[in-house]
Amino acid sequence: MPRALATEAVHAGRDDLAGLGLHAPPIDLSTTYPSHDSRAEAARIDAFAADGVLDDGPPVYARLGNPTVARFETALARLEGTESAVAFASGMAALSAVLLVRGAAGLRHVVAVRPLYGCSDHLLTAGLLGTEVTWVDPAGIADAIRPDTGLVMVESPANPTLAELDLAAVAHSCGEVPLLADNTFATPVLQRPVESGARLVLHSATKYLGGHGDVLGGVVACDEEFARALRQVRFATGGVLHPLAGYLLLRGLATLPVRVRAASANAAELARRLAQDPRVARVHYPRLGGAMVAFEVRGDPHEVTAGVRLITPAVSLGSVDTLIQHPASISHRVVDVTDRHASGVSDRLLRMSCGLEDVEDLWRDLDRALGPVSAPPAAAVRRGPRATVS
Ligand SMILES: *Cc1c(COP(=O)(O)O)cnc(C)c1O
Repeated sequence: MPRALATEAVHAGRDDLAGLGLHAPPIDLSTTYPSHDSRAEAARIDAFAADGVLDDGPPVYARLGNPTVARFETALARLEGTESAVAFASGMAALSAVLLVRGAAGLRHVVAVRPLYGCSDHLLTAGLLGTEVTWVDPAGIADAIRPDTGLVMVESPANPTLAELDLAAVAHSCGEVPLLADNTFATPVLQRPVESGARLVLHSATKYLGGHGDVLGGVVACDEEFARALRQVRFATGGVLHPLAGYLLLRGLATLPVRVRAASANAAELARRLAQDPRVARVHYPRLGGAMVAFEVRGDPHEVTAGVRLITPAVSLGSVDTLIQHPASISHRVVDVTDRHASGVSDRLLRMSCGLEDVEDLWRDLDRALGPVSAPPAAAVRRGPRATVS
């Protein structure tokens, strides 16, 4: 029987430690590795260039691989239920590598569903890596696919509106084209997109996987065939994850299930209170659950970010502490305003990443930051059609 997620979270990537006489994973900071056998190194480099696989010996040079980072990759692949995972310096470096792999195969067209994280949207829209994007509703995916389509990209729950997609239905409409699901918000604790037919699972590891707001990283969980192509692109373009970041991400994974469940309980309670609050027009909280809450205020959203004291007004998410930000000003600022509004990112929307604090302390802070309650009375507003949780 396979081990449960909570068990994998604390043991995966560490299977060899007892044999090494260690308890905590070692950190290998080497940039290069000694070898007196240049002939053997030549053969290993040839093998890597041919198929993206380096044997179990030392990495030759740190851009080819790193054993500490490899532990994180092994663990994340186990949690996502994939054969492999390839880590990068950031979530954006990970997405760039996927686009470069497909572009190198002559498949430069991407079909994508909004909203996506603002910088992912920007990277596709600007075509910086030579890609061309067609934005569609989920129902339009199949019709938008062309002979040169190399990727379909979605996020669910999406950043920042928490809109949810039926990933199995989306995967079905992709046919043979690989589906990339950005699983940063749900994490493998709440959702494993490969089980719904996604071929590639992207994470900004900066968020929940790291979980403490002190490490930047990205990772793609996928089959070994795609992983080989990603490793070759990573070697050629250099967006590698630092080994210290790999260490911190592996450490973060150990508490991922506990953190996600505890933060989600806080988020569900705050979403419930916000949905009943006359100062709030609309609350978005996923059916799937999770630790993110988005809400539209009736007043000025800038006053809320200016008013919080315990909650940190900052972009990013997934840390042990609670963060709030205004997507139209920060995370989705790079998205054209018309596209932003069309994808449901209202100027009154606030996105909150709930942490592990006591929920009453969080509510007190939020309540004060939302400002005075003015007429109409709460009861009248509660019945209003817009005061809904969606
Ligand atoms: C933050 C984020 C990214 C980008 O990740 P970085 O680690 O900041 O490069 C991608 N997707 C989602 C959903 C994100 O929240």
